[in-house]
Amino acid sequence: MKRLLLDLRSRIKAKVGRETRLWRLLNMARLLPRVLSVRRMILERGNYLFVRREGKKLLSWIPNTRRVEIELTTYCNLRCANCDRACTQAPSSERMSTGQIEKFVNESVQLKWYWWIIVLIGGEPTLHPQFFEILQIVKRYKEFNPHCNVWLATNGHGRKVQDVLAKVPDWVGIRNSSKEGGDQYFSAYSMAPKDSERYRLADFSKGCMITEQCGLGLTRHGYYPCGAGGGVDRVFGFDIGIKSLSEVRRRALRKQLGELCGYCGHFDSVDPGGPGKAEWVWGETKSISWQHACEKYKQQGSRLSPY
Ligand code: SF4
Ligand code: SF4
Repeated sequence: MKRLLLDLRSRIKAKVGRETRLWRLLNMARLLPRVLSVRRMILERGNYLFVRREGKKLLSWIPNTRRVEIELTTYCNLRCANCDRACTQAPSSERMSTGQIEKFVNESVQLKWYWWIIVLIGGEPTLHPQFFEILQIVKRYKEFNPHCNVWLATNGHGRKVQDVLAKVPDWVGIRNSSKEGGDQYFSAYSMAPKDSERYRLADFSKGCMITEQCGLGLTRHGYYPCGAGGGVDRVFGFDIGIKSLSEVRRRALRKQLGELCGYCGHFDSVDPGGPGKAEWVWGETKSISWQHACEKYKQQGSRLSPY
């Protein structure tokens, strides 16, 4: 009898033990999404704390796939030193076609991609010869997603630009930097970190705050983790623009950051006087790889494939 009781006891113990383990596993699975969302929150929001407190970047910036800056044209009526679309360093009059803007709207609607903000930018976007046709195409997206804010980023310089601005419809917000000339105090965009010993061990795939704050860039050569990165690709000719919105994934953007940020002077830049170490300067500066790339661009122009 005693043996029978002992046997029964050990069987119950084994069963409860198994159930406890099972219960713990189930509980962990239930908590997993919460753990993941906390991790995501720390990654997305914690960066600012780390940057502010430590004065250096510990975590990767996360490309914001709900914002996009569309570079309608690379042509600009100003020549600002250190322009981060390289309009001064490697001038070009290339522009997106209305067909490419149609493609952007079509794939955004088909994929039910809910952009929060679309910024029409350049160069000087109002100098695109089909500027108002483009607005009509973008309006189709605005009708699909009325919560999306559409902005126009302009330098506001000159009569021609101001005439266009006066006719921009109400549903487009205007960000006018009201520049009077090309003498601007900018981050030294054309100082490639790769050319500096200080960044010898840097992991460029971490990106900078611009990809998280301003979001993606779209040029006539495809999508990039940021607009400034599109400028780097145009001048250096890597031809790594993503040609379809369905291929815009975290991993693909991270790969682009790894290739582009080493040539972008915004890397490690936060704001003037902030903890970032990137230089802010008046007047044109170019590190050695930019000097070579601009020289080559001047001779051969852009050879990137279109979006
Ligand atoms: S106005 Fe803007 S786009 Fe034009 S050169 Fe200056 S910074 Fe570049
Ligand atoms: S460093 Fe330049 S290319 Fe890299 S994310 Fe920042 S702005 Fe874009």
